[in-house]
Amino acid sequence: MTEARRLHVTGVVQGVGFRPFVARLAEAHRLAGWVRNGPDGVEIHVEGPAATVGAFTAALETEAPPAARIEAIASATALPEGDGAFHIRESRRQTAPTARISPDLPVCDACLREMRDPQARRFGYPYINCTSCGPRFSIVRALPYDRSRTTMAAWPMCRQCAEEYADPGDRRFHAEPVACPQCGPSYRLERGADVEASGAAIRGAAGLLRAGALVAIKGIGGYHLCCDGRNAEAVEALRERKYRKSRPFAVMVKDLEAARMLVDVTEAAASLLTSAARPIVLLPARERLHGVAPDLHELGVMLPYAPVHHLLFEAGAPDVLVMTSANRSSEPIAFDDADARERLAGIADAFLAGEREIARRIDDSVARAGPDGPTLLRRGRGYAPAIVARLPSLQPILAVGADLKNTVTLVVRGQALVSQHIGDLEHLSAREAFHGTITDLLSMYAIEPGQLSVAHDLHPHYASTLHALDLAAAGTLAVQHHRAHVASVLAEREALDVRVIGVAFDGTGYGDDGTIWGGEFFAGSVAGGLERVGSLRPFGLPGGDAAARYPIQAAAGLLKDVERLPDLAAPPFSFPGRYDQARRLAEAGLRTFDTTSAGRLFDAAAAILGFTGAIDFEGQAAVWLESLARRAAPCRPLPFQIADSQIDLRPAIRMMAERRLAGEAEAVLARAFHETVAEAIARMAQGLCDAHGVDTIALSGGTFQNMLLVDRVRAGLSPALRVWTNARVPTNDGGISLGQAAWAAVRA
Ligand code: ZN
Ligand code: ZN
Ligand code: FE
Repeated sequence: MTEARRLHVTGVVQGVGFRPFVARLAEAHRLAGWVRNGPDGVEIHVEGPAATVGAFTAALETEAPPAARIEAIASATALPEGDGAFHIRESRRQTAPTARISPDLPVCDACLREMRDPQARRFGYPYINCTSCGPRFSIVRALPYDRSRTTMAAWPMCRQCAEEYADPGDRRFHAEPVACPQCGPSYRLERGADVEASGAAIRGAAGLLRAGALVAIKGIGGYHLCCDGRNAEAVEALRERKYRKSRPFAVMVKDLEAARMLVDVTEAAASLLTSAARPIVLLPARERLHGVAPDLHELGVMLPYAPVHHLLFEAGAPDVLVMTSANRSSEPIAFDDADARERLAGIADAFLAGEREIARRIDDSVARAGPDGPTLLRRGRGYAPAIVARLPSLQPILAVGADLKNTVTLVVRGQALVSQHIGDLEHLSAREAFHGTITDLLSMYAIEPGQLSVAHDLHPHYASTLHALDLAAAGTLAVQHHRAHVASVLAEREALDVRVIGVAFDGTGYGDDGTIWGGEFFAGSVAGGLERVGSLRPFGLPGGDAAARYPIQAAAGLLKDVERLPDLAAPPFSFPGRYDQARRLAEAGLRTFDTTSAGRLFDAAAAILGFTGAIDFEGQAAVWLESLARRAAPCRPLPFQIADSQIDLRPAIRMMAERRLAGEAEAVLARAFHETVAEAIARMAQGLCDAHGVDTIALSGGTFQNMLLVDRVRAGLSPALRVWTNARVPTNDGGISLGQAAWAAVRA
């Protein structure tokens, strides 16, 4: 008996070889019909014997291509169309697309084998790809995903490529970015007026890197600045030209074996390193690479993902390449060719420039391999723009995030799409990227600002807040920063009704009372609201904006009313004169602002233990302190007090100063400080759980990037309590937009 069915598949099903897979599957089952990309997924029409149609439908799910994520298959009977064969049809574009585009995929093994085969057409070709690999989100200009709407539209296929593209038996059947050396883009090496093309370009770049040069290399989501990671002078030069004194650089190594020489690679880390996202993975360093990640216990490592990276290593590039986003300081990554030339003039000695345009910038993602699965610290290439959660809102919501580590979240038909990492909005170029990303997302999903409900931070002067208020949206909602942090954890778990004790520890966030918060405890839920039920004891922070740059200023504020303190200007502390000035400001209450910031608390502790200079990236003193603490064994906490629902750590800080003066090792004291903060958080949270009758604790905020702290907090809590942390969005401010979106979704 012949049956005809119309199937509608939703999820990540475009740009992952899904239509060719469907066509092959239908042919294997000898079914007739067609498949096409629709605005919100893939539509399939099949007809044939009823039993075969059933088997085909089941196999859709079980045999789907590796990069596909099927969310649902809706099925309905249809009228037979009587066509004897199976076809791939043109895409259908409607008014409001919601189909998901795949993240960018690393070059697959089949393509690598072909690229290394001297007999193959694509031998040594840096733009090789197929339906299971290659760029996606970074080349898409509009949905649905078709070559004509990607940056490959500029390269008409040659006859051979067109045949592969049209052949259902070929692995490039409907591979949208398909290309070859005859018809596709290539790479050039530009060094002053000198230009070399294709193979010579890559060999030339590898030679320059061996010789210690800095080379700008165009990848998938932007340009990297590269140099030999074992060449101290080259690394030094990169730091000088990029104005980066001590911010850690990530490295790319040839393969897992090479990674194992540099860092401890657990099984979980190996699978994260080789996963389709190919993120930078932070791992315990085994070998010290001079100047690459100064003073830190971890090193960020990634494996090659674009064909050009493999070709570089095969052409003899050094085994360890520093690969850092090509930009100055913390501006967004350069991705446009002309812009890269201009911004990197005077930084890069040469450009290895590819001709395929990048439609939008996407930084490398940064992740850790935790015991409960990967956690993301920066969401970018390989993850964006996947849906991270479903939220209960039918109205489109745009959440604009915070001003540091900005991301934005768009909720379309209840699906929350978190943008790639955008950066710190203090930079003009980052603000432009922020505006561009919003425009990009809205146009991709055909949403007008007037339809939107917009969520933003409570901070009245954030650039993100001002832009949100400028959007002419249907409505706006201010969400307090630390509530958004807690909400981001609950949003990931789609647990907006679950009552929790939320702990939000970070550097800076605007509080309900207009002071700077950052060490907060809440009780409640996203749906019912989060009441502030505790915090760190507030202290004065002297010196305004500079206070976040100089840990000794935080120390001056925190220690203002501590008696019997050793002389911090004398050894071993040797605080510079800035400390006394800050202390006088704090005592007079001049240019001094109240804060409960955990970040500034860690700054003060770091200052006491020897970090007396300026920081040059956010959180630097805290990661320095964690790395120091990891050199010492577990120990007992120092004294602290909890009174009036406030944690007072001044006794611990004073004892650290006394014990350091008495000659105790800084590492031991750093460890003791971690044990103390963890114990204080655990005791407070446990007490609040009992008082409010809840059994779940949600930890979020940049301070919880410190895994030593998180581990010790967990260890201090009763095993009967659940501890939830961020995994899919960063615990730092990169997760704020998701939390805001969740907050708005239950209030829109
Ligand atoms: Zn491939
Ligand atoms: Zn071709
Ligand atoms: Fe924050």
